[in-house]
Amino acid sequence: MTPEQRREIRTRIEKRMEELKTTIAQLQETSKPVSLDQPIGRLSRMDSMANQAISEQRLTDSRRTLMRLERALDRVDDEHFGVCAECGEDIAVGRLLVMPEATLCVDCAE
Ligand SMILES: [Zn+2]
Repeated sequence: MTPEQRREIRTRIEKRMEELKTTIAQLQETSKPVSLDQPIGRLSRMDSMANQAISEQRLTDSRRTLMRLERALDRVDDEHFGVCAECGEDIAVGRLLVMPEATLCVDCAE
Protein backbone atom coordinates (compact mmCIF):
# COMPACT_ATOMS: atom_id res chain seq x y z
CA MET A 1 0.00 0.00 0.00
CA THR A 2 1.43 3.38 -1.00
CA PRO A 3 1.22 6.44 1.30
CA GLU A 4 -1.22 7.98 -1.21
CA GLN A 5 -3.50 4.95 -1.00
CA ARG A 6 -3.35 5.06 2.79
CA ARG A 7 -4.33 8.73 2.73
CA GLU A 8 -7.17 7.99 0.35
CA ILE A 9 -8.45 5.22 2.61
CA ARG A 10 -8.28 7.54 5.63
CA THR A 11 -10.26 10.19 3.73
CA ARG A 12 -12.90 7.62 2.83
CA ILE A 13 -13.15 6.37 6.41
CA GLU A 14 -13.73 9.92 7.66
CA LYS A 15 -16.29 10.64 4.93
CA ARG A 16 -18.23 7.43 5.62
CA MET A 17 -18.19 8.13 9.36
CA GLU A 18 -19.72 11.56 8.73
CA GLU A 19 -22.40 10.02 6.50
CA LEU A 20 -23.15 7.33 9.05
CA LYS A 21 -23.50 9.83 11.89
CA THR A 22 -26.11 11.72 9.83
CA THR A 23 -27.91 8.46 9.01
CA ILE A 24 -27.87 7.40 12.67
CA ALA A 25 -29.34 10.74 13.78
CA GLN A 26 -32.15 10.35 11.22
CA LEU A 27 -32.80 6.72 12.18
CA GLN A 28 -32.97 7.61 15.85
CA GLU A 29 -35.97 9.77 14.97
CA THR A 30 -37.76 7.17 12.83
CA SER A 31 -37.06 4.24 15.18
CA LYS A 32 -38.78 5.82 18.17
CA PRO A 33 -41.54 3.58 19.59
CA VAL A 34 -44.89 4.13 17.92
CA SER A 35 -47.16 6.02 20.26
CA LEU A 36 -50.46 4.27 20.90
CA ASP A 37 -52.11 7.61 21.58
CA GLN A 38 -51.59 8.78 18.04
CA PRO A 39 -54.94 9.17 16.29
CA ILE A 40 -54.07 6.91 13.37
CA GLY A 41 -55.95 3.96 11.91
CA ARG A 42 -55.15 0.31 12.62
CA LEU A 43 -53.45 -0.28 9.27
CA SER A 44 -51.27 2.78 9.40
CA ARG A 45 -50.31 1.86 12.94
CA MET A 46 -49.14 -1.55 11.70
CA ASP A 47 -47.24 0.24 8.94
CA SER A 48 -45.52 2.52 11.38
CA MET A 49 -44.62 -0.40 13.61
CA ALA A 50 -43.12 -2.26 10.63
CA ASN A 51 -41.22 0.85 9.57
CA GLN A 52 -39.99 1.33 13.10
CA ALA A 53 -38.64 -2.24 13.17
CA ILE A 54 -36.79 -1.64 9.89
CA SER A 55 -35.33 1.62 11.19
CA GLU A 56 -34.23 -0.11 14.38
CA GLN A 57 -32.43 -2.82 12.40
CA ARG A 58 -30.73 -0.23 10.19
CA LEU A 59 -29.76 1.75 13.28
CA THR A 60 -28.09 -1.32 14.80
CA ASP A 61 -26.24 -2.02 11.54
CA SER A 62 -25.14 1.59 11.13
CA ARG A 63 -23.83 1.79 14.69
CA ARG A 64 -21.89 -1.44 14.20
CA THR A 65 -20.33 -0.17 10.96
CA LEU A 66 -19.48 3.15 12.61
CA MET A 67 -17.63 1.31 15.41
CA ARG A 68 -15.70 -0.71 12.82
CA LEU A 69 -14.79 2.48 10.96
CA GLU A 70 -13.59 4.09 14.20
CA ARG A 71 -11.32 1.10 14.77
CA ALA A 72 -10.10 1.29 11.15
CA LEU A 73 -9.30 4.99 11.62
CA ASP A 74 -7.24 4.12 14.72
CA ARG A 75 -5.31 1.51 12.78
CA VAL A 76 -4.96 3.15 9.36
CA ASP A 77 -1.44 4.47 10.08
CA ASP A 78 -0.35 1.22 11.66
CA GLU A 79 1.95 -0.93 9.54
CA HIS A 80 -0.37 -3.89 10.07
CA PHE A 81 -3.36 -2.04 8.66
CA GLY A 82 -4.64 -3.83 5.58
CA VAL A 83 -3.25 -7.20 6.65
CA CYS A 84 -5.83 -9.99 6.84
CA ALA A 85 -6.51 -10.99 10.47
CA GLU A 86 -7.05 -14.59 9.36
CA CYS A 87 -4.28 -15.49 6.89
CA GLY A 88 -1.84 -12.57 7.25
CA GLU A 89 -1.92 -11.72 3.54
CA ASP A 90 -2.41 -8.14 2.36
CA ILE A 91 -6.04 -7.18 1.82
CA ALA A 92 -6.49 -5.80 -1.72
CA VAL A 93 -6.38 -1.99 -1.71
CA GLY A 94 -9.49 -1.92 -3.90
CA ARG A 95 -11.38 -3.80 -1.19
CA LEU A 96 -10.15 -1.42 1.52
CA LEU A 97 -11.22 1.59 -0.53
CA VAL A 98 -14.77 0.25 -0.79
CA MET A 99 -14.86 -1.30 2.69
CA PRO A 100 -12.12 0.28 4.85
CA GLU A 101 -13.52 -1.45 7.95
CA ALA A 102 -12.66 -4.87 6.47
CA THR A 103 -10.24 -6.90 8.60
CA LEU A 104 -10.31 -9.99 6.37
CA CYS A 105 -9.22 -10.53 2.76
CA VAL A 106 -11.84 -11.57 0.20
CA ASP A 107 -10.91 -15.26 0.49
CA CYS A 108 -11.16 -15.39 4.28
CA ALA A 109 -14.34 -13.28 4.39
CA GLU A 110 -16.21 -15.88 2.36
ZN1 LIG B 1 -7.15 -13.78 4.49
